[in-house]
Amino acid sequence: MTIFSRIINGEIPCYKIAEDDRFFAFLDINPVNWGHTLVVPKREEDYIFDLADDELADMMLFAKRVAHAMKKALPCRKIGVTVLGLEVPHAHIHLVPLKSEGDMDFHKKISDPDPEKMKQIANAITAEFE
Ligand code: AMP
Repeated sequence: MTIFSRIINGEIPCYKIAEDDRFFAFLDINPVNWGHTLVVPKREEDYIFDLADDELADMMLFAKRVAHAMKKALPCRKIGVTVLGLEVPHAHIHLVPLKSEGDMDFHKKISDPDPEKMKQIANAITAEFE
């Protein structure tokens, strides 16, 4: 089982944003910027482009709802979208609030993010999720 499946099952804590029957969103534990969020399918699949067409399309539509909530909740110009998947073998989309291009630099992660601030950010995004 992947670490993301264990998060979805509630075995490992996370800063949860939202879920539906097929998708789950939570804060990245080592954010590149405050509010950096991951969107994952509940079904385990390593490589995002191995997802079925409808699952990939619906995952992007779920990510769109999360991104709208992030943009309302956080000071940013846009929400950036990235797929890496080199570390965790469970397909996921990175959503990152952007004021400038440098906010999406995966070499500059916030180390030891303050748990209280993470909780506040997660709650603020959740409150805007529709
Ligand atoms: P990648 O697979 O290259 O897209 O990177 C995996 C991402 O998952 C990284 O940005 C990690 O910081 C993030 N990550 C790994 N473990 C956790 C966790 N337990 N909770 C939240 N995010 C995580």
